[in-house]
Amino acid sequence: MHAHDAGQVALVRCRHCNIKRYFKPGELREVYGNVPIEALRGKMRCQKCRNTEHIDAELLHLVGLEAVQVRYRRLAEIRFVRRVIWRDE
Ligand SMILES: [Zn+2]
Repeated sequence: MHAHDAGQVALVRCRHCNIKRYFKPGELREVYGNVPIEALRGKMRCQKCRNTEHIDAELLHLVGLEAVQVRYRRLAEIRFVRRVIWRDE
């Protein structure tokens, strides 16, 4: 994802729930790595239907009023779950 330009936003849609959310490309990169936007299909999970297969993601360039009014879904926290697995010698 190369979206360093100001004004570029990632539009992520769930076709099943008909929900649209706007993300900051840099934050998606932090979570999913430096992958093309298309790679988020099947990776991101819809928070409503919990599915990954209906996700559509694209980069948009918003201008003017749209760019000012867009409400982002921001990265709040990344949690790492520690799992301990024991094995017998
Ligand atoms: Zn959904």
